[in-house]
Amino acid sequence: MRAVDIIRKKRDGEILDEAEIQFFVSQATSGAIPAYQVSAFLMAVVWRGMSVSETQWLAFAMGASGAHLDLPAHIGHRVDKHSTGGVGDKTSPILVPLVAACGAIVPMTSGRSLGYTGGTLDKLESIPGFRTALSPDEIRVMLDRHGCCMVGQTDSIAPADRLFYGLRDVTATVESVPLIAASIMSKKLAVDLDGLVLDVTMGRGAFMKSPSDARELAERLVAIGTEVRLPTRVLMTSMDAPRGHAVGNAVEIIECVKTLKGQGPSGLERLVVSLAAEMVHLAGLESTLEASEQRVSGVLASGKGLEQFQQVITAQGGDPRIIDDYRLMPVAAHRQMIKASRNGYLVQLDAELVARATIVLGAGRDRVDVEIDPAVGVITQVSLGDEIRSGDPLAEIHYQRSEDLPEAIQCLMQAFVIADTPPKLGPVVLERVA
Ligand code: URA
Repeated sequence: MRAVDIIRKKRDGEILDEAEIQFFVSQATSGAIPAYQVSAFLMAVVWRGMSVSETQWLAFAMGASGAHLDLPAHIGHRVDKHSTGGVGDKTSPILVPLVAACGAIVPMTSGRSLGYTGGTLDKLESIPGFRTALSPDEIRVMLDRHGCCMVGQTDSIAPADRLFYGLRDVTATVESVPLIAASIMSKKLAVDLDGLVLDVTMGRGAFMKSPSDARELAERLVAIGTEVRLPTRVLMTSMDAPRGHAVGNAVEIIECVKTLKGQGPSGLERLVVSLAAEMVHLAGLESTLEASEQRVSGVLASGKGLEQFQQVITAQGGDPRIIDDYRLMPVAAHRQMIKASRNGYLVQLDAELVARATIVLGAGRDRVDVEIDPAVGVITQVSLGDEIRSGDPLAEIHYQRSEDLPEAIQCLMQAFVIADTPPKLGPVVLERVA
């Protein structure tokens, strides 16, 4: 078998068989297939797509590219959650300690920033000292002692996803239902789970712009879960505006801490409670969703989720003092407020444009070897539907280099749309697929 023949076959729109997919994934992971051929393969998949079976084979091959993290039986009620990507999407670092504090075991495997969306690993690594590359033994110790961990793909956990993910980010090959589905599920298949909750995002700040694409992605994800008997639930959520107010890395972690303190944006808190309740229910800790929601709300109000977050930060090498002193997080050298130029109501807050502003500032990558800047970002000051007066603050930009500012401001000025009449606001959770 030769990589070039597999690339050609996919380029021409043919269906690959399981052996070809396994060969490509294992050879790419070992380095025998160079990055330029992997990139060509990824682009062929973006253009030609994959059948449901091909997507499953890809997910299984990627999941099997490293070790399988077996967990001892006494570590029960294991549940994880993953989002298909979004702007300001910071639910994971809140959910992991919160759901663990509710009694579940949460071995969370996450990704880095992808395209214009942020990545949980980059956000967590903005906490000074925080390590996301844990060995299987370290993960087991975390789960045994703290009931949760937040880790990424490594040489041992889904290494094929680490390779593909990094290349997709910089070769414009992110927006593909089979690649997203296989990427997410490969990480989950590498760990023993009892349940999985997926947040399939849709809208301006998501990879899936239309309901039909989002539904197709949800169905592929559930099909992979079903094939391996992993109970999988999907919440389809709206991602037209950024989630919460902060978009960046350190600024998002600070918003996570505030949310665990009960001081976060109310919409973000509501979504976190919904996702956490699904996780608690799926983990078998409560028999109904209502009871799960009550348990989650009680634990959140008690501050136990915050305590758990502090413990996890310490255990994964981070500085736990950031919980009380946000100045210990990376801080950008400069801030600039942008203001409204008219009276009215905020009818649109375009998540993709806000994300583009943060990328201009240095919060994302355009090449594999680029380091992201953890300190830069944007903090929106208003929410959709708010009444606004000319001169009111709309967004605060945290930046390092003055030369980045004009383009970031231009993106943000287009992102905020103010009109005379208030908008009709829809729910964040659009649909639940069990
Ligand atoms: N999250 C992932 O892990 N992979 C994707 O492709 C998108 C979101």
